[in-house]
Amino acid sequence: MTITIGKFIWDITYACPLQCIHCYTESGRRPARALDRDAAMRVVDVILRAQPQKISISGGEPLSVRWSLEAMKRLHDAGIAVTLFTSGWSMPDKTAAALADAVASVAVSIDGADASIHDMIRARSGAFDRGMKALDALHRVKTERLAAGQSCFTLGIDYTLTRSNAKEADLERFVEAASKRFPKLDFIRFGAVIPSGLAAEPGYEASELLSIEELIELIAVGQRLNACAVNALDISVTDVRYFLPQPGVSAVDLDIAHLEPDGALRAFPIYEAKVGNVLEESLDVLWPKVRAWRSDPFVAGLMESVKTMADWANTARTLDRRYGSPDDRERIARRGQAELELA
Ligand code: SF4
Repeated sequence: MTITIGKFIWDITYACPLQCIHCYTESGRRPARALDRDAAMRVVDVILRAQPQKISISGGEPLSVRWSLEAMKRLHDAGIAVTLFTSGWSMPDKTAAALADAVASVAVSIDGADASIHDMIRARSGAFDRGMKALDALHRVKTERLAAGQSCFTLGIDYTLTRSNAKEADLERFVEAASKRFPKLDFIRFGAVIPSGLAAEPGYEASELLSIEELIELIAVGQRLNACAVNALDISVTDVRYFLPQPGVSAVDLDIAHLEPDGALRAFPIYEAKVGNVLEESLDVLWPKVRAWRSDPFVAGLMESVKTMADWANTARTLDRRYGSPDDRERIARRGQAELELA
């Protein structure tokens, strides 16, 4: 292949036991679109040929897919740094153990300092306890492997910041509790919710979306928390603006390829536009289409006009409604209807 892609994101299913109010893929409320095992392995072949340095396996809940471990292990064995993002809804001991030989990193998503906050955001009671138990299982595996002199995944928590869960005192008590319960935890990564999917809808924007100024303040909070961190825990607040065009860096050159469960290739992570499917056309054909979409004057103008989170949400809504597939547009239209019914 003649093109360079540094990183893949593959949402391998839209099935999810949870229904988070900010979900960018609207998982758990739509068909899973997961491939059967043979087709999935062909997608793995495509990724292997592209030789990226990294891949994020996400969803939906990726561990609900039967072939997920096999796919991750093939990528891992080829030297690609695989990160699994999971809600931790289900983490049998044997799955936690198998992950030690299949991924470089596991991030369990916890979005609240306690069950009342997390379960409200996840729209399912028991989600917090199950996520923490998944971390227990993974932490046990990591502790045992390190004691035996074996390598193991880095283990961390991914925490999406919204208006409901970003109070500094809550973040402090969460970090303290997690550090005590999981001494071998490698990272806690906070990141402001990106206005994408459900998080770009007007109702969500009005109630939960943080402003750029709040994000900047939270980055400073993350630095303070990291300065006080115990063990070797790394605490950070991701500046999610890296998805926006930066001075001197064109969005056209962002070397991230984002795959939907069935192999459809998005033109840009976080927006619904697709340029084709990697099971039908080669990346040599598809990647120039990605770059062409990103360079389109209408798209580039919208992306470059973003100055605030509200602008960003508006850009996401506009792009999704204009470039989403007929199925996407139908699903998005139902969201608007649901908001009207709730009002
Ligand atoms: S756990 Fe992740 S994929 Fe599932 S509904 Fe929540 S945000 Fe979406």
